[in-house]
Amino acid sequence: MKDLYIDGSWTESSSSQSGRAVLNPHDGSELSTVSEASHADVDAAVAAARNAFDGGPWRRTSARERGELLRLVADLLVRDREVLARTESLDTGKTLAEGRIDVDDVTAVFNYYAGLADKDAGRTVDAGNPDVVSRVVYEPIGVCALITPWNYPLLQLSWKLAPALAAGNTVVIKPSEVTPLSTLRLVGLVAEAGAPPGVVNLLLGSGPVVGSAMVEHPDVDLVSFTGGLATGQRIMAMAAPDVKRVALELGGKNPNVVFADADFDTAVDYALAAAFLHSGQVCSAGSRLIVEDRIHDRFVEELAKRADEIRLGNGLDAETECGPLVSEAQRSKVEGYIAQAISDGARLVAGGSRPAEPELASGYYLRPTVFADCTRDMAIVREEVFGPVVTVERFSDEQQAIDLANDTDYGLAGAVWTADASVAQRVAAALRHGTVWINDFHPYLPQAEWGGFGKSGVGRELGPSGLAEYREAKHIYHNIRPAPMRWFSGERS
Ligand code: NAD
Repeated sequence: MKDLYIDGSWTESSSSQSGRAVLNPHDGSELSTVSEASHADVDAAVAAARNAFDGGPWRRTSARERGELLRLVADLLVRDREVLARTESLDTGKTLAEGRIDVDDVTAVFNYYAGLADKDAGRTVDAGNPDVVSRVVYEPIGVCALITPWNYPLLQLSWKLAPALAAGNTVVIKPSEVTPLSTLRLVGLVAEAGAPPGVVNLLLGSGPVVGSAMVEHPDVDLVSFTGGLATGQRIMAMAAPDVKRVALELGGKNPNVVFADADFDTAVDYALAAAFLHSGQVCSAGSRLIVEDRIHDRFVEELAKRADEIRLGNGLDAETECGPLVSEAQRSKVEGYIAQAISDGARLVAGGSRPAEPELASGYYLRPTVFADCTRDMAIVREEVFGPVVTVERFSDEQQAIDLANDTDYGLAGAVWTADASVAQRVAAALRHGTVWINDFHPYLPQAEWGGFGKSGVGRELGPSGLAEYREAKHIYHNIRPAPMRWFSGERS
């Protein structure tokens, strides 16, 4: 299998380990077998990226040329939209419609950074001295390790790869071992678009072996990671001895606050999408509903009824509204949380079990699950479940809603639903989360920063800050009338 991409060539792994089977979460069947990279492959990929950064032609490209490369990748994504969407759906279990949206979003991200690449070359600074020209310029950081999760393989990679290349870095990519297939295709497109050898390299394999070796490699300058909190903490510690730059996009436990004056049907509709899109395996999933007392009971009843009606099935089937979880391991983790919530006293009002349909029996399915009577001390309310589970808490006034919404170690995203614009603005201002939606849930824009407060991460992706993550700022101070200043004259007065 020649599925590692190192120094401009597709190559075989040098590992003696046999390949890894990639499974279809709909039925557990094998989609493909991929390589497991060895330590020697990690060394080769990092060396290729190092050489391409230190000495290759990439350093001499203009920002405009790099922008053009990204634009070409965007065009190729449009050309291959259907095959990419299908690959993503097969590998992750998400619906084909979601797969298509992902590819369109990825295309928008490449186009956005194509446009931004040459827009800001730095600035001149007033040094307070007419004989000084002082300017701040931006330079690439160097070799970047890009490590991505399994829920949005293409999308999460694009948030890293497009700005890293726009800024002039070279990269070594490692997708999740659970869902590597669309990344293989995207790297193929970047190669087809003309990225010089060594600029983009791809490794496949497990996090603890291949990912750790990348993070600890002395020739890596920056690690950009999206994944779970525990892995992020480990990566930060591994990057510390070399003071590597780290950008971390970790989990979330995202509040969705509904006031009684919100449009009831719309709020219920969005609460379902917030919680159950991609079976809740979304970092910004609205997994904590916080509902005002006056509508609480009616809201829970309607939510549970509509959750029960969600059509589960194969992501490729046009009728399907919600696919399976990504793996057996992920489903058992979520089932563990459900069992714990029941024993902690949460009231199960929908789902909580595997579907009864025989045609779904060999896939990793779980019914959309709603828990009412939840309290903030429960694990199901505090920890990221990353599955189709939503908890409902209640509040009686604005301050209580804010307190509950902010009572989390995370701080990725949150929403507030109300017809009162003043309440909406006050609550949005008070929420300690990186994104706040008012009367909406989930949309993000390539132009707007994405990232978390608290344990949801370090740094920002998307927007101008997403490019800044991949740049070093350098101050160049030029004295244009140099003359001795006699600070040390050696003379005594
Ligand atoms: P994970 O942390 O298990 O794995 C993520 C990636 O890290 C994978 O490629 C994995 O192989 C690698 N990895 C694992 N251990 C490693 C190690 N010791 N050293 C280096 N790399 C290692 O996460 P996951 O289960 O794939 O993804 C789910 C998590 O991702 C959730 O917590 C979710 O919230 C988070 N996520 C966050 C965002 C965001 O924007 N904040 C977006 C998507 C997903």
